[in-house]
Amino acid sequence: GVGRHEIARRIRTIADFPKPGIQFRDITTLILDPEGLRLAVDGMVGAVQGPIDLVAGIEARGFVFAPAVALALGAGVVLIRKDGKLPGATIAEDYALEYGTDRIAIHADACTPGARVLLVDDLIATGGTARAAVRLLRKAGATVEQACFAIDLPDLGGADALRADGITVSALVA
Ligand code: IMP
Repeated sequence: GVGRHEIARRIRTIADFPKPGIQFRDITTLILDPEGLRLAVDGMVGAVQGPIDLVAGIEARGFVFAPAVALALGAGVVLIRKDGKLPGATIAEDYALEYGTDRIAIHADACTPGARVLLVDDLIATGGTARAAVRLLRKAGATVEQACFAIDLPDLGGADALRADGITVSALVA
């Protein structure tokens, strides 16, 4: 769409972070630029279909986009955090990493039953994180049908796996 290259050229790739052989896609340069930040948020908002009650951001870079998208949609914000960070009663979900597992959590009372939730993160790769977030939100009673990302790495299959979970997936850059 319009502005896709304008977004892509503001994202940098850093070699060998956090480990040798990884090409890390870095959105800090996108959001440093006022025009880049605006294009990214507008692009995410523009892909949303129908009413949204809550925007759920995934720690940590999802937290950058979630409030801006939520303000534009007239929605609230849910924080999906690494387990152990939230102060109230939580529900959690485990997901597989290359080696071992990780666990994300939300406050147990974050979603009223049937709340229409949009999931937001900076990047989808294998989809392990986003799919666990969808399971978690659904366990909490939310209706989750849409997710948006700044970057999709389509060769890793995460977006397709998320679509198979019943999610409409959009990304600003692939
Ligand atoms: P996945 O679970 O394999 O889809 O990985 C996505 C999660 O890891 C997201 O929360 C991203 O923030 C993070 N991530 C993976 N690769 C990158 C990258 O190259 N840049 C920024 N974040 C990344």
